[in-house]
Amino acid sequence: MNILIVGAGPAGLTAGVELARRGITATIVDQRAGGSTLSRAVGIVPLSLKLLEPSGVTARLLDEGISMQAVKFYSGNDQLATIPLGPSKPKYGYGHILMLPQDQTEAALADAFTALGGTIRYSTAFEGLSQDDGAVAVTLSGGACETYDYVIGADGIKSSVRGALGLDYPGHDLGETWSIADVNCDGWANPEDFTLCILPAGGIAVIAPIGVDRCRVISNTPDALKSLPLPMNITQINREGQFTISVRQVGKYRKDRVFLAGDAAHCHSPVGGRGMNLGIADACELAACFESGDLDRYSHVRHKAGAQTIAGSERVRKMATATNPVRRMIFHTALKTVGASRFLRSKMAEGFLYG
Ligand SMILES: Cc1cc2nc3c(=O)[nH]c(=O)nc-3n(C[C@H](O)[C@H](O)[C@H](O)COP(=O)(O)OP(=O)(O)OC[C@H]3O[C@@H](n4cnc5c(N)ncnc54)[C@H](O)[C@@H]3O)c2cc1C
Repeated sequence: MNILIVGAGPAGLTAGVELARRGITATIVDQRAGGSTLSRAVGIVPLSLKLLEPSGVTARLLDEGISMQAVKFYSGNDQLATIPLGPSKPKYGYGHILMLPQDQTEAALADAFTALGGTIRYSTAFEGLSQDDGAVAVTLSGGACETYDYVIGADGIKSSVRGALGLDYPGHDLGETWSIADVNCDGWANPEDFTLCILPAGGIAVIAPIGVDRCRVISNTPDALKSLPLPMNITQINREGQFTISVRQVGKYRKDRVFLAGDAAHCHSPVGGRGMNLGIADACELAACFESGDLDRYSHVRHKAGAQTIAGSERVRKMATATNPVRRMIFHTALKTVGASRFLRSKMAEGFLYG
């Protein structure tokens, strides 16, 4: 079988690894000149760790990442609740979320793919396709035309593959601009915890450790570092930027011989840290469908999973960023109540880990 994967992000690389593990060698093309240096997704959930175990990728990720010990909620600098992770009977064999910058996750996947005999062709952009009952003809940059049995579009939120299929990407764009910073810092108070600070007027700031004395700060305010209500001794700013958020999902993840996976099929806010994980699970399911021959299963199963994740992520985003004083009070009171109850703390921890 001859498969082209467009996009060497987490979804495309996982598809390559999981197909190669099953004896199906795919070619990956990416328009970038080389591996990514962006640290976008930092939280790897237990299901992803389980899915990436057979290829040996999980062992490397565990070696490089930080196990998140707890989720801490603050209102300004008042601590509302601490939710310890690490349940006594962890599902999938993992009781923590692993914190690792996305470029390191991608490097581990790319190395596993090439070790299994796969090829990544960088500086090669997908430009178009046409398909019939037996094959897909693909145009790549420079006008090269190549023929494949199947194509997987894992080319991110602005997917050209999705565009070439003429598929809509229904949903909406959130009006606000979010900010992000990747910093080195000294003596941060919660070096192994995920910290969410609720700010006035619907603002939030989220701090996640991504290395020794290195943190990621995200906020729905214009300047992530200025928004911080807790003291952080920043020794170096590695990267600062702003981004916007769309909440969208394609109606079908397949059109004949072409499949969509990852952000090409769904996108939502980084609240809850699920986007990359959802793409990894899409790719694993798709590889399993190629192995079993049940290709019809893919779109149905992954559309349902995507819709559930988007709904969950939107629920949390709306609660955390509510501007209405009554909704804010309810959220604060709910967090304090959960924080005070061992049972509710463990239920909430399960939601973070496995929801
Ligand atoms: C600030 C931020 C924080 C986030 N935090 C988290 C988190 O903690 N946990 C989490 O799970 N998710 C998180 N996410 C989401 C996560 O980063 C994305 O869901 C993930 O990168 C999607 O992976 P992907 O492989 O589908 O697409 P991408 O990572 O976007 O990769 C697509 C690839 O396709 C290539 N490409 C595009 N067009 C073409 C073309 N025409 N031809 C060839 N190649 C092409 C691109 O160069 C790129 O390499 C976060 C996102 C942001 C912005």
